[in-house]
Amino acid sequence: MNHFVRRRGELYCERVPLLRIAQRVGTPAYVYSTATLMRHARVFRAALRGLDMLPCYAVKAAGNLAILRLLSDEGFGFDIVSGGELHRALRAGADPGRIVFSGVGKREDELRAALRAGILQFNCESEEELEQLDAVARSLRRRAPVAIRVNPAVDARTHPYIATALATSKFGVPASRARAAFRRAEELPGLAVVGLACHIGSQIGEVRPFIEAARKMRALFEELRAGGHALRHLDLGGGLGVPYGDGPDPASPEDYGRALARALRALDARILVEPGRLLVANAGVLLTRILVSKRGAGGRRFAVADAGMNDLLRPALYGAYHAVEPVARPRAGSEVVDLVGPVCESADVLAPRRRLPPLESGDLVVLRTAGAYGMSMASQYNGRPRPAEVLVSGARFRVVRRRETVDDLVRGETV
Ligand SMILES: *Cc1c(COP(=O)(O)O)cnc(C)c1O
Repeated sequence: MNHFVRRRGELYCERVPLLRIAQRVGTPAYVYSTATLMRHARVFRAALRGLDMLPCYAVKAAGNLAILRLLSDEGFGFDIVSGGELHRALRAGADPGRIVFSGVGKREDELRAALRAGILQFNCESEEELEQLDAVARSLRRRAPVAIRVNPAVDARTHPYIATALATSKFGVPASRARAAFRRAEELPGLAVVGLACHIGSQIGEVRPFIEAARKMRALFEELRAGGHALRHLDLGGGLGVPYGDGPDPASPEDYGRALARALRALDARILVEPGRLLVANAGVLLTRILVSKRGAGGRRFAVADAGMNDLLRPALYGAYHAVEPVARPRAGSEVVDLVGPVCESADVLAPRRRLPPLESGDLVVLRTAGAYGMSMASQYNGRPRPAEVLVSGARFRVVRRRETVDDLVRGETV
């Protein structure tokens, strides 16, 4: 469900024609729908209402301050993975008491900033990180609230780049060492052990891996508590998938919520969850203009867009699928094209071998479901300023991140 709809043949975001945004703001641009984002946020919360739950939005999915503010106002906390994301969340007005700091390696200055801010919890991913955090906390005369991220070894059956709980993964402490890691954490005077965490991967379509992880984590949580650890938080991470249009629909938030509620029934703990993609993916599109429509060898058709892999990396990185649609009423007929970007890399293909209505230079198209891991993965590769970000609400829109300029490309550099 989203609010990118056709009216009289033309594509709108809520009540704003995407053509008007392209005319005012230019292309490429990320366009987000407030109504879609809010709907996802509410559906997600409602699906988990049976649990004593704090949802912490994963900032890395889409970190624009305006998006963070909307979610913060909806009562969401934040899952951050760097000092930069901490800065974003605080700048958006987040309550530090609802911030969880994840990630497999955290610098001392990042730990210090998060301690000073007074965040809810550090999710530590190794025994060595416990020692590092302890040292920083003691130097600040504070106790750091800690959860240990354990690798529950479940196969999330997703793309290997976004599966994070395989036995070979760099993430988390292996479950077999969890008890020893908790014992060590209790010995460190700068730490206050508050929870147990996991995150099994991203774009997970079935509820089964979540159930398996929740059961394993619950058992471990209860065992640790029985062993004398005063755990209060069980953090199950994020990872529920969204429909991109190239396969079966993933499980719904309701299925996910029911499964978690069943697996965690009567567990006396605050449940943290860290949804990212699910909230923002189809609340955003990448709006781009066709620069050139060209023919290659054997008549192969290429449509070259003004957005490339530096603007939307997912197709090049994961072979990800994004549905493509013209903004204007689609022309009659269809042809198979490679929608490519202008970046000097053969991997810069946004949509290979796609059957689309005929496209001509000057046409506007969107890549749908680009709200998550779109702008947040964008780079300036090939000397390309990053796109503008636009937030639509009803019949109005505003630029929530201006398009970068060529001066932004050299900011901070000297000859
Ligand atoms: C990326 C990440 C998330 C969010 O994953 P989604 O698939 O976007 O829901 C949550 N928690 C951690 C620790 C992550 O690294």
